[in-house]
Amino acid sequence: MPTETHSTSAPDPIPAPPGQRRLIVLGSTGSIGVNTLRVAEHLASAGLMNIKVVGLAAGRNAQRLIEQAREFHPQAVAVADLACASEVKKALPGTPVLAGPEAARELVQSLDATDLTAAIVGSAGIQATLAGIQKGMRIGLANKETLVAAGALVKPLCRAHHAPLLPVDSEHSAIFQCLASQGPGARGKGQADCGPDTSHVKRIVLTASGGPFRTVPREKMVQATVEEALNHPTWKMGAKITIDSATLMNKALEIIEAHWLFDLPSDKIAVIVHPQSIAHSFVEFTDHSILAQLGPPDMKTPIQYALTWPGRLAGCSQPMDWSRLGQLEFFPPDFDKFPALKLAYDVIDAGGTAGAVFNAANEAAMAAFLDRKIRFGRIVDLVAQALAALPPRPADTLEAILAADQAARDFVNNLIGNR
Ligand code: NDP
Repeated sequence: MPTETHSTSAPDPIPAPPGQRRLIVLGSTGSIGVNTLRVAEHLASAGLMNIKVVGLAAGRNAQRLIEQAREFHPQAVAVADLACASEVKKALPGTPVLAGPEAARELVQSLDATDLTAAIVGSAGIQATLAGIQKGMRIGLANKETLVAAGALVKPLCRAHHAPLLPVDSEHSAIFQCLASQGPGARGKGQADCGPDTSHVKRIVLTASGGPFRTVPREKMVQATVEEALNHPTWKMGAKITIDSATLMNKALEIIEAHWLFDLPSDKIAVIVHPQSIAHSFVEFTDHSILAQLGPPDMKTPIQYALTWPGRLAGCSQPMDWSRLGQLEFFPPDFDKFPALKLAYDVIDAGGTAGAVFNAANEAAMAAFLDRKIRFGRIVDLVAQALAALPPRPADTLEAILAADQAARDFVNNLIGNR
């Protein structure tokens, strides 16, 4: 896609002072983006890390982006929405503003940064994340949709450019932290650009809160309103991931994300429902030991670990209040009530562009639900229909992935008359 003509031209890169970590936050105005900036501010102001925010990218929340730019003084910002970009330019006369759908990618390509937090929601984040990998940046990956749709490109690219890929998703950060005990491993793994060593992993177990409908009967759940679906019991997150948590599509995306991150086949990835969201995931090893990572549900912890890995620094997230912990419960997931889970395993086994279709069909169906055009129960049905109608093709180029993404969106939008 061409660059929007009225973007401020890309800034000249300013070389990084030695030892300084220079961070670009993609999706800075969202839930993960805001938390990332708080973590960066904490690390810098406490003198724990020499870290500077050099770039911010947002979609359409001009006001929040302006406030962030005034606080962090980035070298440049990117805004996808053109009208919002004009507002940002007026408010920030000294700051280059890249505008349009390609602006986040251009920002990554133009700045001299060491670190990228990829927290744009949905497949809109793919190209900017790939650009960061191609520049060998250290990637804190929140944007799971990038791996679900383009995992086949991401992992080889990380290896080729020595770009460490550090999970921000709390479950994957937990697995990553548990696997850190494994050392470099026999296959030259254990490097974050290759993925940690999993040769002694029997299986990983991703925990799921179960979302707002865990105890709601299926017949009632399928009629749920937008407000009911947005009412997550334990996490405060953006709208898309909150709806994904209600369908358990979020866990389905995470199963596929784990497949790519840890190079594991579908039969080594399990899910368990854990309503308290304290145990963030488990690794079972072949010697039957089990490691888990625990903590209160606060995304600042995995965000910070992605920035400090392989070490740790004093955190700014909520510490555990053991006196209020109560009991930790674990239940098997209900595959009949939440068919998204089974689809995720099918997607891994199908390979190719199945992940891109799965993700894009979900984005289109979920957006239609948020627009009150379809009922809640139809979201996962539409994804299943898209997967059945669009057989996987090789996912060896970005073009093939983007074409599958578009075909899935068109398919869903045609079915619901959303043209
Ligand atoms: P939000 O909806 O809160 O934020 C999304 C961000 O993406 C916003 O900054 C938004 O900008 C920006 N954005 C949207 N479209 C574009 C675009 N085309 N170009 C540039 N920026 C864009 O989402 P979350 O922060 O909750 O989630 C972000 C990602 O992190 C998702 O992939 C999610 O699955 C993942 N994640 C989130 C967790 C959480 O706790 N929130 C936990 C684990 C993973 P604007 O608001 O300005 O429009």
